[in-house]
Parts: sequence; C-alpha cells; structure tokens
Amino acid sequence: MGFSDFHGNAETVHRLREMIARDRFPHGVILAGPRGSGKYTLAQMVAKAMNCSEHPISDGLPDFCGRCTECTRIAQADALDQRFAEAVEAREQLRDTDKKETRIFIQTHPDVMVIPPDPPQMLVKVDQVRHVTATMYYRPTEGGHKVYIFSESSFMKEAANALLKVLEEPPEFATLFLLAETPSALLPTIRSRCITLTLAPIPVEEIERDLAQKPEWNARQKSLVARLSGGALGRARGFDINGYLQARQDALIILATAISGGDHSALFRTTESYRAGGEGKEKTDLLIATLFSLLEDMLFVKEGTPELVRNIDIQPDIVKMTGAVPFDWIVRAAERVGEVHAGMRRNLLRSLSLDALEAALEA
Ligand SMILES: [Zn+2]
Repeated sequence: MGFSDFHGNAETVHRLREMIARDRFPHGVILAGPRGSGKYTLAQMVAKAMNCSEHPISDGLPDFCGRCTECTRIAQADALDQRFAEAVEAREQLRDTDKKETRIFIQTHPDVMVIPPDPPQMLVKVDQVRHVTATMYYRPTEGGHKVYIFSESSFMKEAANALLKVLEEPPEFATLFLLAETPSALLPTIRSRCITLTLAPIPVEEIERDLAQKPEWNARQKSLVARLSGGALGRARGFDINGYLQARQDALIILATAISGGDHSALFRTTESYRAGGEGKEKTDLLIATLFSLLEDMLFVKEGTPELVRNIDIQPDIVKMTGAVPFDWIVRAAERVGEVHAGMRRNLLRSLSLDALEAALEA
C-alpha cells in the first residue's frame, strides 16, 4: 500500500511527495480536477504520509505504510460518502435546538479533519471554518502534521471570508486542502494564498485497456464502465456494473414515462423496489445518479457532441428520447431531479416516491 496505488497524474503525485520531503509543505493547496479524478483519495494519501509512524520511503520519496495506527485511523475516512451519511444521520437524531447548531465534520484521526459541505444547502458554513480555526493552532501529536480537507469548495460568503483569514496566518504545522472541480469559483484572494495542482482525468482508452484485467466483463461492458468512471481508474475497477444496469433500466422507465406522459403501470411496478433505510438509500442514490447520466447524455446528443455519450451501448435509445423533447426540457428535468435529491438528503430515512420524481419531470 502507498502512493503507487494512485493511478495516473504521476507528476502531480511526485510534486506533492517532494514537498512532503522538503518539510515545507504549503499551508493552502487547491486540488483541482473533475469529479472522480482522485482529489480526495490523493489528499487522504498525503495526510497519511505526513502522519505515518513508519515513515516508509519509496523511489527516494516519503510514502505511507497503510498499516500503522495513524494510517488506519485516517483510512477510516476513506469511504467519505458513507462517513458523511452517518454524520448527517447522527445529526438528524439530535433535538431540534442542537440540530441547528451542529455542523457536519468527519474526524477519525486527531490531526486530520474532513469538512464536507453542510446539508441541506450543501455549502461550507462559517461555523465549520470557525471550528477549523479553533482547533488548528494546537500542535499536532509528535512528528505529525495537521491536515484539513475541504471535500468540496463551495463556501457560503461568510465562510469564504473566514477561510481567507485562516490562510493569512496559518500555523506552520497545518495544511488546508481545498478540493475543487472549478477553482475559478473560489475567491481570487483565496486562490492567491494557495498553490493549485490539477488532476487530469485518465483517458477513456487507457481505462478501457486497464479493464482487460476484468475477464468477467464483456467488451461492451468494459467500454461502458470506462466512460462512466469519469476518468478515475479506481472507480472503474470497482464498478458495480449489475447494480448500474438495474438502476438504468428503472431510470429509463421513469424517463420514458415522463417523456410520453402515458402509461404509468411500468412505473408503479418499479416503485415497489425502492424502500426507506440504508440499503434503499444507496439504491436510490444510484438511481438518481443514473438519471443524471442519461439526461447529460441527452444533452450531448442535443448539442451535437454524441461522441461524449457515456451510455454508448444504448446510444440509439438515447438519440430517440432526445429527439422527442426540446433542449429546455432536458435542462429543467436535470434541475428537478437535483431538487428531489436535495429534498431526500434532508430526510435520509424517507423512501423515494418514484411517481413524485416522475411528476416533477413531467411538470
Ligand atoms: Zn503508516
């Protein structure tokens, strides 16, 4: 285990490791790149390398062992979505007065903290940044380095200003990672106090070649997974193709019903399989993500860039659906799916009403 598990973007990884070796790590690092390009994975790896008690060296540069107490504690936050859902669910159990004042943090190691955007607005709030300020000036444990990872760089205005203050006078032993899909959305004053490293997605062809190690997938499935993984090799390798195809079948029924406005019987049969609770939530999240990917593919067709379509195995169906609706319909549908999803995140235990979702699309 170590940095060799990170695929692609070798230069950026090398640069980060050199900075760890020089022991003058920047206080603010913007890791930029598309969703799935490994920003969070890499930030977690740097946090491990800075705090690993084994201090392994590979290729002449600092690495991490992945086995010591420090590494394993930090690794408990590797599954970010899961930890985030647990933190949100724990807050839901609080009394109303406490709920309002509780902000979401993920901390599995005393010197490493992950700050996700706070629901329901899904923005980083000023109280979260204040909490960072309140803890970051305490020295880390022996030989360690404090690492704060903002998993998405969407800040409320006041929070962005508070962050700027932190970046003006950071302690020498702390680093803030800002993970951003579009760093230009950050305040210029924040950007000027950070170094920006960009992770490029791995080309589809390269991922497809790598998937040769998956003999259980046929060529069509490999090519589909390579496109759906968003340039992230780890995501491609661990892709749940059967789960995806099942979700897509349901998503296509919803879309077809919304587009034709006709027969709802197939939709009601589908509704039966989406229930409340943990497993149901995962299934529902996958369904929503799949709906987004289909709507996005429809936009690619509409915009005359069909080569960007990811669900290539059903491209003729996508072209047909796209022909049946205007451009605005697709944009509005994506917005409404987003609204329904935000509503669900506010109440994780609620089961998804598919007909409500479909009605939202039809409206
Ligand atoms: Zn270690």
